[in-house]
Amino acid sequence: MNFNPEEVNKKIKRVIITEEEIKQKIAEAGKLISEKYEGKPLLLVSILKGAFVFMADLCRAVTIPCEIGFMCAQSYYNGTSSSGIVNITMDLKQDVSNYHVVIVEDIIDTGRTLNDVMKLLKAREPLSLEIVTLLDKPDRRVVKLDADMPLFTIPDLYVIGYGLDCGELYRNLPYIAEYDI
Ligand code: 5GP
Repeated sequence: MNFNPEEVNKKIKRVIITEEEIKQKIAEAGKLISEKYEGKPLLLVSILKGAFVFMADLCRAVTIPCEIGFMCAQSYYNGTSSSGIVNITMDLKQDVSNYHVVIVEDIIDTGRTLNDVMKLLKAREPLSLEIVTLLDKPDRRVVKLDADMPLFTIPDLYVIGYGLDCGELYRNLPYIAEYDI
């Protein structure tokens, strides 16, 4: 934990996506989701903690009835490849076989965690399963995984803000910034 505010703030290198840009993309995504799932049982699922801010804003941009669910998941890797084993430390309350499920993710980097979560959720046979991610770093991918709705594609940078942390700090920033490594 770093209690030196000056030092913490110095690590915010530059804003790469503004609050306004995020707002606009989320409004568009909320509209698309509302149109696509109109009249269907919809469950928005986030994997904690990074996506909590995105989920809070996206669910309020969805204008049709929907349920919200959260999971805590940890993947295990053998060297550079995913073992496919996900440890779920907090599971969904809902039985996904009754829902069209949209995973609401903060960022897809290597893709391993979400790939394992997707396998697990698919095995539970939801009515459908899609991914919406705020940020996508396709250059870093090590497994084949594409988001159905990536809001922003970014280069290989370590980013913070809008739910994304570095050592548990910066999640409360209202924008996405590059972290000064
Ligand atoms: P993946 O399994 O796709 O490699 O990892 C995804 C997770 O790694 C994300 O949910 C996020 O928690 C973390 N992560 C990946 N890239 C970044 C980044 O640039 N900034 C932050 N703060 N977290 C990241």
